[in-house]
Amino acid sequence: MKKIYLLKHTDPSYAATTDFIQGDPFNTLPARRCPACGGPVSMRPWAPPFRAELATWGKRFGDMAFGPGGDILISERFKDLWLKSGLIGLEGFEPVEIVKVVRRGKRFKDAPPAYFRVVAQPSQAAFDSVASGEQWLEPSSPRCEVCREGGNSKGWERIVLEEEPRENICTVRGFGEVLVDEHFKRFIEENGLLNCPLVPAEEAAHWF
Ligand SMILES: [Zn+2]
Repeated sequence: MKKIYLLKHTDPSYAATTDFIQGDPFNTLPARRCPACGGPVSMRPWAPPFRAELATWGKRFGDMAFGPGGDILISERFKDLWLKSGLIGLEGFEPVEIVKVVRRGKRFKDAPPAYFRVVAQPSQAAFDSVASGEQWLEPSSPRCEVCREGGNSKGWERIVLEEEPRENICTVRGFGEVLVDEHFKRFIEENGLLNCPLVPAEEAAHWF
């Protein structure tokens, strides 16, 4: 199995940590639904117009910026390299109008790069709740075998998947966070892309 990493929202070094919030008007589309049980299996995706307010915490703009919901902003450099890379698992690539920049770290002068909105594609691969050491607040009610949604999770010791995702970046059934693989890691390292912090899946414990 290829090595899997959790894509974190905050770079521990804060060198190029960049966040965003959607600007007004903030429109959304309906959440994706599970084909088996009909329940929602995603947050409501952002719909045009794509306007965002950025906040930086270091002294440079990130090549990724994270916000509420599942949307991610990528820099134009990230986009151009990605589209040539042969890697798969991102969709969208719509231009985003930056309406405000708040520099919370260093007051550096550079203008932000052009940013594009992407989302990680849903994979057919599934989160292995038992092997991941997931614990539940109360005995979980029977969950849909297709989407694995529902139940009240207390957290997990690590991230283990039932099968290898085909995508290089994706979400998997039964797990809301974005995961990437070793090819994605090499892509960001070889290109020196900033603010794409990764945690090895076996170390990605999380308790709510
Ligand atoms: Zn379902």
